[in-house]
Amino acid sequence: MESTNPQPIPETESKPPAPEPEVREAPQAKPAVRKPRAVNAFATTLGVAVLLATLFTAWTPNSLFASNLQDQLNLILTPQAGANPVIASPQPQLRIGIVAGHNGNDSGAVCYDENGEVDLKEADVNFEIATLVQKSLEAQGYQVDLLNEFDTRLNGYRAVALVSIHNDSCEYINDEATGFKVASSLETRDVNRAQRLNACMVDRYERITGMIFHANSITGDMREYHAFSEIDPNTITAIIETGFLNLDREILTERTDLVAEGVTQGILCFMNNESVLPTAIPTFVP
Ligand SMILES: [Zn+2]
Repeated sequence: MESTNPQPIPETESKPPAPEPEVREAPQAKPAVRKPRAVNAFATTLGVAVLLATLFTAWTPNSLFASNLQDQLNLILTPQAGANPVIASPQPQLRIGIVAGHNGNDSGAVCYDENGEVDLKEADVNFEIATLVQKSLEAQGYQVDLLNEFDTRLNGYRAVALVSIHNDSCEYINDEATGFKVASSLETRDVNRAQRLNACMVDRYERITGMIFHANSITGDMREYHAFSEIDPNTITAIIETGFLNLDREILTERTDLVAEGVTQGILCFMNNESVLPTAIPTFVP
């Protein structure tokens, strides 16, 4: 390996570090101590190999599960002016889980018509949204599992992201009972990424649907969602209540495509490490 390296080794590389003032001012009275070339070639090759290995691992899907300090720093320090073109191209093997809330278990919230008949079930709305999200993400090249509420696959489930889709009550509570909520898991090994998924979901869903984010009414039920503790702790998760079946019924049932698009774009924002602009701080003009 070392003898076939055609690259001449620059002399500066072979010098041991010397105190700077003497090197600069005095003419060299004695020849610089030189290490055997073979050792240098090997060291250089090793250095390049280490560098390549580092660069390579930085872009593999596995690095999405890494939670070391450098990784977190990189995440924080990544310029958010636009999507990184390298990360932006989807990698076909990346897995995403979508839970259709209540599906396979119960109907969730229900709506009744004036005759007292059930005319809308949360589970059906959740399933329709989840199916549309699955199709869109698959079209982007991801491997997407559509999961039931208590799906056996959730046990130790490992994916880049898991998002559970639910909807809020069909009771009329008050005029404020409209809009969406997002919560991410506190049990994850990587809170940083979980917060990023959360921020992506809120930002994209709000923009696309024009719905209001209910930051203050996120319940313990959402934060301690059962699936959060069943899955692999490396899987980044969020739960979204895409709206209230009462006041948001129209957009949920008639613009389900838009609702699903909001969820999809939130997930893609996270997967592609896209920028999330911070909420503008209001300025007060006297
Ligand atoms: Zn629900």
